[in-house]
Amino acid sequence: MKIGKSFGRKALVLLCGAALAMPLAASGAAPAVPAVDEALMRETIRTLSSDEFEGRGPGTAAEPKTLEAIIARFKAAGLQPGNKGQWLQDVPTATIKAINKSPLTVTGGAQVLTFQPSSDFVAGSYRITPQTQVKDSELVFVGYGINAPELGWNDYAGIDMKGKTAVILVNDPDYAMEGENGLFRGRRMTYYGRWTYKFEEAARQGATGALIIHDTFPAAYGWQVVESSWSGAQHFVQTANDGADQTVANGWIQKPVAEAILKAAGKDLAALTAAAQQKGFMPVPLGLKANLSFDNTIEKANSHNVVGLLPGKTRPAEYVLYSAHWDHLGRCKPDATGDDICNGAVDNATGVAALAALAKMNAAAGRAARSQVFLAVTLEESGLLGSEYYAQNPVFPLAKTVGGVNMDALAVGGPAKDITVTGGDKSELTAILRKVEGEMGLRESPEEHPERGHYYRSDHFSLAKRGVPMFDVGRGVDLVNGGTAAGQAASDDYVNVRYHQPSDDYQESWDISGMVQDVKLFYRLGRELADSNVWPNWHPNDEFRAVRDKSLAAAKGK
Ligand SMILES: [Zn+2]
Repeated sequence: MKIGKSFGRKALVLLCGAALAMPLAASGAAPAVPAVDEALMRETIRTLSSDEFEGRGPGTAAEPKTLEAIIARFKAAGLQPGNKGQWLQDVPTATIKAINKSPLTVTGGAQVLTFQPSSDFVAGSYRITPQTQVKDSELVFVGYGINAPELGWNDYAGIDMKGKTAVILVNDPDYAMEGENGLFRGRRMTYYGRWTYKFEEAARQGATGALIIHDTFPAAYGWQVVESSWSGAQHFVQTANDGADQTVANGWIQKPVAEAILKAAGKDLAALTAAAQQKGFMPVPLGLKANLSFDNTIEKANSHNVVGLLPGKTRPAEYVLYSAHWDHLGRCKPDATGDDICNGAVDNATGVAALAALAKMNAAAGRAARSQVFLAVTLEESGLLGSEYYAQNPVFPLAKTVGGVNMDALAVGGPAKDITVTGGDKSELTAILRKVEGEMGLRESPEEHPERGHYYRSDHFSLAKRGVPMFDVGRGVDLVNGGTAAGQAASDDYVNVRYHQPSDDYQESWDISGMVQDVKLFYRLGRELADSNVWPNWHPNDEFRAVRDKSLAAAKGK
């Protein structure tokens, strides 16, 4: 992933291992869970994270080997090829790098303001085009750049952004709050606070450009993170229109740059920020014009998702998903021993192993009422591209996809007594989770860093933002052996020593009993959706409710 990929998620994940605090079926009501094939899980992790697989870099010689290994496990489990008789879905991508960058100039004030690339601003294009030019584009301050009809909030109210460039505050109006009770859930990050959302909304508004004002506290990372993330190539999925529905250019500006621009317009950033935090804020045209240009080098490539299917018995045209990304970083920066293979054992051979085990368990249990889809997606590490491509080009209609479970980096630190739910209580999936928790005797701990927005940083998000409710159940922080202290130690080891490094290796000494317990939980969650006739929706004030309602209504109208 790109900017702001913090280690928090992985930290939580490592502490994983939801353990049984009481025997299953204490109430007599819990359905039977087929055995988890531990040997299959170990063998899958061992294979996929071996040096022979070279860290599973998409587009490398390791890709066909990895795909073959996944297909073999899906076949052995009894799945059918899910993509119209094929196992694979093509994922065409474009990698764009901006070069020959001009300064950013702003005219219309007392004097022309000139800002330098990298040190003052960064910019790139989401359009697949050799040249990018923003010329005399009117600057408009649009507060947080949020359009949230379910909250009665629109920072673009009454303005036509065509030809204009939005100047946008980072995060959302509640970011500095302590609790989670604000309109934008207080300190908890919402989709509206993510930088990716700002660019998407500016594009929906028809803007030519979008510039986010960097500010270290609400952004949660310094300018150097922005600068380094935007100086290299950016990865996208190819679309039929080559991104013509995107803005011409997106970028970030340093806070002092924003202050200078606003001053030239006779405005004050602090005063405008305060205004933008109030409901009813209206966009502020600045009477200034922006200019910038650069060239783009474009490389096209192709990778693949693997799609397996267990057809439903009574409602086969309704679908429930299990997903996990198969890719990792491939060859990477060598460590002290010269090892340059980022094996990605935890991240995410464990998730693929869980996918294989779940395929086998669900096949063994007999067909569910609804169809079950097993999706191994590519290019998560490049920005959730495999899941994004699937969500843009779904093999099974999203309006007929009930929901699902995504798995990214499972526990290898032994069983825990608790679980955490990333994203908090967003949808009616919570009721299902609580029911299964009760059956399994698991305790739910609050998400450790709700302000980091982990829900928006793995593959389930590609589906969630198009309305499909998805579980992202992080595992616990309180280990059966050693409690939270042991959990913290295991987490620190992973975050500091292994995460995205050559040392994310498989070890036979791993205690995978926590992972086994997680897989049982995922089985129950998926099966609960697949064997029922529920259509869990997002809560009415959730950011994804409107898109789901629209998608379901459109499907009904057909
Ligand atoms: Zn991952």
